[in-house]
Amino acid sequence: MKPEGHLFSHMPRLSKSRYLGGLQCDKRLYLETHAPNLATPPDEATRAILDMGTEIGVLARSRFPGGVLVEAGYRQTQLALEQTSSLLADPTVPSIFEAAVLACGVLVRVDILERVSGDSAAGSTWRLIEVKSSSRKKDLHLQDIALQTYVLQQAGIGLAGSALMHVNTQYALDSAGVDLAQLFTLHDVTEEIAPRLIELPEQLEGMRGILERPEAPIVEPGAHCHAPHECPFWAHCTKDKPARWIFHLPGQTRTIQGLREQGIETIDAIPQGTKLSRVQELVRANEEWCGAKLPHALRQVRYPVHHLDFETIMPAVPRFHGTRPYQVIPVQWSNHIEYENGNILHQDYLAFGTSDPREELLARLLESLGTEGTICVYSQYERSVLGALADEFPERRADIRAVQKRLWDLFEVIQAHYYHPAFGGSYSIKSVLPAVVPSLSYTDLEIQGGAVAAREYFRMAFEVSDWVEQARIADALRAYCARDTLAMLELRRSLLQKAEGRCT
Ligand code: SF4
Repeated sequence: MKPEGHLFSHMPRLSKSRYLGGLQCDKRLYLETHAPNLATPPDEATRAILDMGTEIGVLARSRFPGGVLVEAGYRQTQLALEQTSSLLADPTVPSIFEAAVLACGVLVRVDILERVSGDSAAGSTWRLIEVKSSSRKKDLHLQDIALQTYVLQQAGIGLAGSALMHVNTQYALDSAGVDLAQLFTLHDVTEEIAPRLIELPEQLEGMRGILERPEAPIVEPGAHCHAPHECPFWAHCTKDKPARWIFHLPGQTRTIQGLREQGIETIDAIPQGTKLSRVQELVRANEEWCGAKLPHALRQVRYPVHHLDFETIMPAVPRFHGTRPYQVIPVQWSNHIEYENGNILHQDYLAFGTSDPREELLARLLESLGTEGTICVYSQYERSVLGALADEFPERRADIRAVQKRLWDLFEVIQAHYYHPAFGGSYSIKSVLPAVVPSLSYTDLEIQGGAVAAREYFRMAFEVSDWVEQARIADALRAYCARDTLAMLELRRSLLQKAEGRCT
């Protein structure tokens, strides 16, 4: 590796994450470098997704036998650079994992650096491989690989090519076990990134200029803060915005952008006559609204009314025979049954053990749902999970189709006939429940969201061996899924009361 010159030594160092942040927003780049403490730490759901990416990255290394990991962590830059240098110079090392390379004031860690020819540091050529847990190539991946390629080239490392390795969702697990060669797809992107390499020196120059400013650039928060990723500085950048800030208007970004261009800062300042969607009109009115047809819509249910919710996992590495990466696997359901006399019965199922739970889960579900009554759900997700089960178990298809015909979507009813200002334009059950049934929420639960439930299920089934811990997770999962179905039941009841009282 060429030594890092003095030219960039006085400047704040760029890194891959700062560069990618800088592509999203100049202010993000500045804050990530100079004030990272202003970022909101990732919540549990985000951490669950990040953990999956880490697991895939580690698994991908198994495809490169004999590869050596640079053990020094992300805060041990000097040590990581030294370890990488010695591995590059060691002709017995076929691949390096997490190689640290610094050039032009930019530090990168390369997922996999594979030696493709040569047996010395000077004479070797390498292939750079970026591993992603996603199922397809994205533009951001190419930006990411282009930066790494540029830094390695500037460091004098001979590159034969650059590649992206991602999960192949067409692969199905068979009885021979996980086949890593099929689980991952390798795309050579050497030619695709070539035009980006030409742009990079200027881009990096621009970013360095931003970092040298005495203060963060002024950037108005907007749609760009949410794509391609949620910016962690959103709470910081919007802390002084009014509660009824125009950006809280739900719906098309174009409409909101148009209003902002007219200088409209709050929802209350939207001029009369502005073309808005029905939901936007409701948010602007900021009042509870019960549509005239709400009572009729709620009375469409037949007793006993079942309230059904699935919890699912989508393992990147398939666990069960015949399943594919990221295939949705139901592992749990809850059913609160309300009888006409007001009695309530709760039934549920939680898969245990490491074998495919779907057949038993389905059999128990069909027993619980029986053949009578409406099945209340919240969104179309349960319908799609049932459809996948019908494909998997054709012998139960007729029973499943009969169940699907009884589904009744409370989400659609609320969306069409009711609004409360506390929804803030969102009809997710987490927004609707506290507004309509303030006495019931998720805040007392250990698990409060689907992503965390999926991660905890995975831990319980495949990672934890202590049965006490397994039992604790199982209790938390059952409590969470049961709350979803109880929430539906209480929402139905409360809305019916509203519909029959002051709503009508
Ligand atoms: S929240 Fe938006 S404006 Fe603020 S730093 Fe992030 S991307 Fe930039």
